[in-house]
Amino acid sequence: MAKFDSEWVPKSAMTIFAHPDDAEFSCSGTVAKWAGAGCEVTYALITSGNIGTHDVKYTQTSLAVIREQEQRHACEVLGVKHIEFLHHDDGRLVADLVLRRELVHLIRKYKPEVVLCGDPNQLFWGNNRINHPDHRAAALAAVDAIFPCASMELLWPEDGPIHEVHGVYVRDMTFVDTWIDITGTIDLKIKALREHHSQLDDNAGLEDMIRQRSADAGKDHGMTYAEAFRVIRLKGD
Ligand SMILES: [Zn+2]
Repeated sequence: MAKFDSEWVPKSAMTIFAHPDDAEFSCSGTVAKWAGAGCEVTYALITSGNIGTHDVKYTQTSLAVIREQEQRHACEVLGVKHIEFLHHDDGRLVADLVLRRELVHLIRKYKPEVVLCGDPNQLFWGNNRINHPDHRAAALAAVDAIFPCASMELLWPEDGPIHEVHGVYVRDMTFVDTWIDITGTIDLKIKALREHHSQLDDNAGLEDMIRQRSADAGKDHGMTYAEAFRVIRLKGD
């Protein structure tokens, strides 16, 4: 299996997203598939989603505690080995040098062969939604940390020896070149999403939406269900 092909499984992977549940929506079918095949997966959560509710019974502190626990349960479902929470504040994320350095530290610590993240350029979803600014900031910080910062010896040497990420799986809605068959893991994706009770218990159409979206992604590629990515191939064999 050639590197980055649809059925290729990296030895290690890291997801970098802004909020609990972002990785589940974006790539958890792939995460569960890879983890089940022996890939060591690390989740990097930049915020703990501490303003992600319209229910005023929560405080920012109590919501963060609940959402971190929900994320841990989702990761158990998916077979994720490590979770790192960076505890930035939800709704105020900026792709600054503090965040970039924290991500460099995690990339050097866990040495992922591939990173999965969002698309920093995605400003709108269709014609009725604005992409959350935290999603854009998280994605920009991720790609800036991957290249060039994590791989430069003279930059932040106290954050560990350099590491070169081989590929970046970007959840890009406008350009896609790699489809991962998640037919065997879509049930785990839905189960992991359901662990985010504070976000999704009211979402009666969740399962149908995930199945429809995944079916649409796979239909031209002989897959019942798929997740689609733009893969940035930084390092070949
Ligand atoms: Zn989000």
